[in-house]
Amino acid sequence: MSTLDPVLLEVLACPCEHHAPVRAEGNPTDAIVCTRCETSFPVRDGIPVMLLDDATPGPRGIGADPEA
Ligand SMILES: [Zn+2]
Repeated sequence: MSTLDPVLLEVLACPCEHHAPVRAEGNPTDAIVCTRCETSFPVRDGIPVMLLDDATPGPRGIGADPEA
């Protein structure tokens, strides 16, 4: 059971300063990605780990704006 609940996805937000919405990546979902800074959070046993310590920063870094 590794399909992420869409309702859960709606209430999740990136812990970066913008608290941007996130999207699910992979099928089954293996990562949660911030729609703003592209930081990627692991999904372990179907549970998104929304911790910056465990995150893979996006190309411009955690909390970065989409374009500079
Ligand atoms: Zn973010």
